[in-house]
Amino acid sequence: MADRKDDTAIKKVCVIGAGTMGAGIAAQVANAGVPVLLLDIVPKDGDNRNAIAEGAVAKMLKADPAPFMGKRPARLVETGNIEDHLDKVAECDWIVEAVIERLDIKQGLYAKLEEVRTPGTAVSSNTSTIPLEKLTEGRSDAFKRDFLITHFFNPPRYMRLIEIVAGAGSDGATVDRVVDFVDRRMGKSVVMAEDSPGFIANRIGTFWIQQAVNSAFDMGLTVEEADEIGGRPMGVPKTGIFGLIDLIGIDLMPHLMESLTSTLPPDDPYQAIARSEKLIEQMIDEGYTGRKGKGGFYAMHKGEDGKRTKMAKPLDGGEYRTAARPGLVRGPAAKGDLRALIETEGKVGEYAWAILGPTLSYAASIVPEATATIVGVDDAMKLGYNWKFGPFEMIDTIGPAHLRERMKQDGIPVPPLLETVGDKSFYRVENGQRQYLTTDGEYRDIERPEGVLLLEDIKRTRDPIVANGSAALWDVGDGVACLEFTGKMNALDEQVMKLIGKAIPVVRSDFKALVVYNEGSNFSAGANLGLAMFAVNIAAWSEVEKLVKAGQDAYKALKYAPFPVVAAPAGLALGGGCEIALNANAVQAHAETYIGLVECGVGLVPGWGGCGEMLDRWRSNPRQPGGPMPTVSKVFETVSTATVAKSASEAKELGFLRPTDGITMNRDRLLHDAKERALSMVEGYEPPEKPEFRLPGETGAAALMLAVDSFRKQGKATPHDETVAKELAGVLTGGDTDMTETVTEAQMLKLEREAFMRLVRNDKTQARVEHMLETGKPLRN
Ligand code: NAD
Repeated sequence: MADRKDDTAIKKVCVIGAGTMGAGIAAQVANAGVPVLLLDIVPKDGDNRNAIAEGAVAKMLKADPAPFMGKRPARLVETGNIEDHLDKVAECDWIVEAVIERLDIKQGLYAKLEEVRTPGTAVSSNTSTIPLEKLTEGRSDAFKRDFLITHFFNPPRYMRLIEIVAGAGSDGATVDRVVDFVDRRMGKSVVMAEDSPGFIANRIGTFWIQQAVNSAFDMGLTVEEADEIGGRPMGVPKTGIFGLIDLIGIDLMPHLMESLTSTLPPDDPYQAIARSEKLIEQMIDEGYTGRKGKGGFYAMHKGEDGKRTKMAKPLDGGEYRTAARPGLVRGPAAKGDLRALIETEGKVGEYAWAILGPTLSYAASIVPEATATIVGVDDAMKLGYNWKFGPFEMIDTIGPAHLRERMKQDGIPVPPLLETVGDKSFYRVENGQRQYLTTDGEYRDIERPEGVLLLEDIKRTRDPIVANGSAALWDVGDGVACLEFTGKMNALDEQVMKLIGKAIPVVRSDFKALVVYNEGSNFSAGANLGLAMFAVNIAAWSEVEKLVKAGQDAYKALKYAPFPVVAAPAGLALGGGCEIALNANAVQAHAETYIGLVECGVGLVPGWGGCGEMLDRWRSNPRQPGGPMPTVSKVFETVSTATVAKSASEAKELGFLRPTDGITMNRDRLLHDAKERALSMVEGYEPPEKPEFRLPGETGAAALMLAVDSFRKQGKATPHDETVAKELAGVLTGGDTDMTETVTEAQMLKLEREAFMRLVRNDKTQARVEHMLETGKPLRN
């Protein structure tokens, strides 16, 4: 055995077990740019001893949603098997075990690892249920020092939560090293959990689902009624409970129940509610296991006319029938007022209380046994189950004293924390600082890890510098200002452009740099099409043109401002949302940024400088063959097909981001990183030079249209696609020009505006926009 490692960085990872979780974890390590060795057992049949791990990678390359953020990360995964390649773990700095949930198999593997790993290499298990104490039984102290539990959620790329359990014998430095890696490099939000069954999120989540299912059966509700009451009004994803079970797989339910009932103590409240339903057993037996099976509590049925109808399963065991929209929850109860919800007369209030009463009681009872603080519980449910509010935040909404009284009335156990809180609340804001209640009844500041900066926190301490209905400017410290979009879905409109106009002189005189950032689930899905259509419908063409021009002017004013502007998108950045990033002097993007110029999809062309910016990016791309035509073709191909990057790293491949732009893996670190990037640009900052283009003009446009023509003949493009593509080709090839002339940026903007205005007057474009507004889906007319 080699000497203990003294280099602390994690530079190579080994994942053992290439199933659902192991493969997904390996992909996320690769997404972080770190090489990973993925091992599984040797299959019983066939000659390929690496077939399982290789098969897992091949499957992931085709999966949707994709585990890999692009093609490049997949190349960082090396595959193998535990018989021939286990000694390679000596080269790794962290070994993640994600084999099947069996103690004997896991222990057997650790015994082998003890012989081949380098001491100091972290070893962690992805177990969902087995206590750390049991896992490390029989292992040396040295092994125990480097051992911990890293419980990822499925799918590992997209679920932000990771629960980490350190054992009594775990070495603090090893734990810190892994915590740091999963946080910064893999982008996960760490919640430290105790070594208790089911940890935090699954323990509460399983109780919650069980309670909701039991009550729906007991009360004779339909699944639609249950999901309507138990879904959105509680800030739970819109699938509700039965929809969620369909998603995770109905067949998983008995396993979850079995694992918790067998590990929790007999007096745990979960034991009293764990029960199976005949209908559910029957559905599993017959293959109705949810979305992956023949259907579940919901199913999509295809009629003879090819139309798909959503069906629902009656809980009394009858045949599927068309799913209903009961429309039961109204008023404040539908808008997040939980007290109004539980106090609604009839089945709405009754069912809401049947879920929330026991679930909130249970959640409050597992602190500090499952995790030290209420913040851990709330974070776990928000990040691991996508709840909008954590249980303690929900309790504050209802009012802890009110909830306690109601629990007492109804014979629901009142956990000690609910007594401790008295007439106060679990959270409060003191001098702009959010605080939480400890188990001792004291308030303590919620501290963010170093490098985590949230606008949400900043907003509690100050007012915006300037603001209107669609945007605001904030002081985010160290001489950096932040432009936030605040309209519905962060849509971009005239107000945003006006605020940019106001912000520039303020930033110039009082700040060093500007970041464009917000904490909505999407950076911006683009221009406010609803407003634009209003002007179109009354044929107020000059108003439409004014909006296009105002956007161009505002974006270019940002680009040429005397201070650096860094855009920091996360989630969707489409159309005008993409163009503001294209016009920024640098971008620091969250890894999960889905950016693209989608205007052609609604029958338009990018109108806020996107065309010129894309040409400029591609012609300076070192991987791009020289000459204008390949550049123009590349941009035309990307924009005419409304291509959206499926990650920030793919956005680099598609030219929406520059090779030098930054990517932040952890969403909570994005503002901090963007700020740092902006500050690093301040010294000696000069705004960019205005680009000039040499473009092929009409001959180039004709060449581009040849391809579109053949698509149309094959039925892959509609006649209106061709009209739109022709306008785009006209802009990208520089209009009436040729290779001997130069085209200025101002001319490019004029071409964009003219093409946009011609298209927006077209009935078919208007039909596309209307359809998008009504359905959220593109119309292929
Ligand atoms: P899985 O059944 O999809 O994959 C398990 C893999 O382990 C298989 O590929 C199997 O061939 C392999 N394997 C079995 N014995 C092995 C051995 N001795 N050496 C190497 N590989 C071996 O299981 P999964 O869902 O990926 O779960 C893996 C672990 O993650 C379990 O501990 C589970 O409790 C935990 N977990 C699962 C989820 C989830 O949602 N599926 C979520 C969090 C944690």
